[in-house]
Amino acid sequence: MIEKLIRSEIRSFIPYNANQQPYKIKLDANESPFNLPLKVREKLSAFILENPQLNLYPDTDSIQLRQALAEHWDADEQGIIAGTGSDQLIQLISNVFVGTGDKVIYPVPSFGMYRDSCVIAGGVPVQYLLNPNKKFEYSKETIIEGYEKEQPKIIYICNPNNPTGNIMSREDIMEVARHCRNSVIVVDEAYAEFCDVTVIPYVKEYENLLVLRTFSKAYGLAGIRCGYSISCRKLADAINLARPPYNISSLSQYTAQLVLSEKEEIRENIAYLIAQRERMKGELAGIKGIEVYNSYANFILVKADNCSEVYKRLCEKGIFVRAFGHASLLAGCMRISVGTYEQNTIFLDELSTICYNN
Ligand SMILES: *Cc1c(COP(=O)(O)O)cnc(C)c1O
Repeated sequence: MIEKLIRSEIRSFIPYNANQQPYKIKLDANESPFNLPLKVREKLSAFILENPQLNLYPDTDSIQLRQALAEHWDADEQGIIAGTGSDQLIQLISNVFVGTGDKVIYPVPSFGMYRDSCVIAGGVPVQYLLNPNKKFEYSKETIIEGYEKEQPKIIYICNPNNPTGNIMSREDIMEVARHCRNSVIVVDEAYAEFCDVTVIPYVKEYENLLVLRTFSKAYGLAGIRCGYSISCRKLADAINLARPPYNISSLSQYTAQLVLSEKEEIRENIAYLIAQRERMKGELAGIKGIEVYNSYANFILVKADNCSEVYKRLCEKGIFVRAFGHASLLAGCMRISVGTYEQNTIFLDELSTICYNN
C-alpha cells in the first residue's frame, strides 16, 4: 500500500548507501583525516561546561556565524545563508525556484543531489555531459547551448567537480554567467579550498550567481553538517523563504565559527593534503593497470583494469574507496580521498599488490 502512495518519480530512488562496515582506512567520502584543532576542542568543551543553553532553540539566523563568514570573505552578510550542510541549500534552492515541469541543467558525472533535489521539487532534470574522452572537461558552449534550449530555472556547475576532480576556469564560468541571465547559476565550491579558484567576488555583480561552500571537507567538520551559500541579498532573501526555522544547531553554529578562526591550522592541513594529493597522483600513475585523472580537490579519480575485483579486494583489506556503477560514464573508475601520509602509504602498497597479482 505504502509503495503506491509514494510519488511515482520518487519511487525509483535508491536509498543513499554509505558503507557502514568496520574499516581500517576510510578514503571513500572525501572527509578530512584531521581531528579538530586542539584549541577548538578546548573552547568547545569550555562552552559545553559553561552553559550552552541547549534547552533553548538556536539562533534561527546563525547571525554570529554569518558575520564571521562575511568578514572572512569580505562579503555582505545579508547574502550569506547557513545550511544543514550545503546539501540543505541545494534542496532549498530547488524548492524555491523549481515547480512542476521546470527544468534544471546539471553536469554528469557529478554530485547526485542536483538531480535528486530537482525531481523531489517536481522539476525536470536535464543533464549536460562532461566529455569522458576529454578528461571530463567542462565546456562552456555545452552549458550555454543547454541554457538556450531548455530555459532552465537553475544551472549547476560543480567546481572542482566531484568525482572527476577537474575544474572549469573562472573566466569560463563567468562567461556562462554573463550569457545565462535568466537562470540561477549555482557554483558548488565544496572543494575549492584545494585549488583556490572561486567566483565568490562576482556575486556582488551578478544577481543570479550563487556559490555553495561547506565545512564538511577542507574544514574537517563533516560531523556537524554545516554549509553556506554566498550570493546577492535578493537571491538569499528568496532562498530564505523556504528555509526551516532553527536549521543549524547551536553546537554546530558555535563549532563552525571556532574553526573559522583557526585559519593557520586549517591552512596547514590544506597544504598537507595538496602535497599528499600530488604524491598520490605520481605514485598511482606508476601502478600497472591504473589510469589517473588530474585532480584539484582532496580526492583522485582513477580508472582501473578489472575495477570491481580491485575494489572488492581493497574492501577485504578494510580499505574503503568509492566505486561507481558499471553502466555509467564512470564504469571502471574509483574515487580515492586523500588521507594522511600513513593512510595513503598503506593504500598505495595494498593497491599495487592487488594490481600486480591481478
Ligand atoms: C560533499 C559535497 C557537498 C556537501 O556536503 P555537505 O556536507 O552537505 O555540506 C556538496 N557538494 C559536493 C559536490 C560535495 O562533494
